[in-house]
Amino acid sequence: MVTDNTCPICRSIDGSPSTVSSTGLGADRVRVDCDVCGRFLVSRSALVGELSYTDSKLDLTRRALLSHRLRLKTEGYAPRDELAVVTTETLKEVITSHDTLPSPASQSAKALRFVGDQVRESYTPIRRLPPHFHSLIGSPNRRFSYRLVRELRAQNLLDAVDADSQDDPLAVMNIEPTMDGWQVYESGQNGELKQGYGFVALKFGDEVLDSFLTQHVKPGLNEQGLRIIDLRDVSRAGVIDNIMREQIRDADFVLADLSHDNPGAYWEAGYAEGLGKPVVYICEKSKFDQYKTHFDTNHCTTVMWESDKPDEFLRELVATIKRSFG
Ligand SMILES: [Zn+2]
Repeated sequence: MVTDNTCPICRSIDGSPSTVSSTGLGADRVRVDCDVCGRFLVSRSALVGELSYTDSKLDLTRRALLSHRLRLKTEGYAPRDELAVVTTETLKEVITSHDTLPSPASQSAKALRFVGDQVRESYTPIRRLPPHFHSLIGSPNRRFSYRLVRELRAQNLLDAVDADSQDDPLAVMNIEPTMDGWQVYESGQNGELKQGYGFVALKFGDEVLDSFLTQHVKPGLNEQGLRIIDLRDVSRAGVIDNIMREQIRDADFVLADLSHDNPGAYWEAGYAEGLGKPVVYICEKSKFDQYKTHFDTNHCTTVMWESDKPDEFLRELVATIKRSFG
């Protein structure tokens, strides 16, 4: 149970203070408001199981990964939206998944983007970094994120002064990009950062496509050193929000499934094309043979898939992706 005021997810990371208020929502869910992870619900069985204080199977990196995912969800939600729910299943998935935190280079790119975005809102330097800063950029803990910020300052991309804080010896204050920093920020805005992953755009909740993707496509691409970000990990169906835009901007390529003529998938592919990203279209074979896809993408390279022939599909897909990088 949540008996003290620490967050059941990030509580042990670097001793980060978290202001948590939890209120019982019926018998099986607890609401958590964490300065670091954001707002979410936790099932009671997860609290006494995977998240329990004495017997936790979540190591610090897994906790940081979950905190990062929850923070991205909180940022993506409108205030009245349904909150993310952390259940025993969620935690089992996090414990066994191959998903990792963003690379340090990617974290520092996100840090620079965060500072640039904030400063552009008021055109004054950021006084202090907020408590959720490390979780938002995907750092394992606060200390590491402060070191990245100091590194950005050493590279003359950020301007900041030491905060002389006893609690956080590495903390800085009055942070803003330098002119060099603004130039890197601008190129980041245009999606020129190499992050080492592809973004997948598709219809939500299609059973055949879902299992084809998780059982064959993701692991198959992983083996080839190609990682794909599934927007369902960080966002919601049918919502084109800033988080999704950022994911697409940072992706090295986009994989768009057109089997269901899904408007979201077309929008995301178009957004990526506009940014000059390689977009690889895929479509279920019988659908393509019968109805084709939307006329504007008919001339684009489309790789066909059949749920019972994953190996053939993967071979062609990997070759097409590698070709699209030139
Ligand atoms: Zn937390």
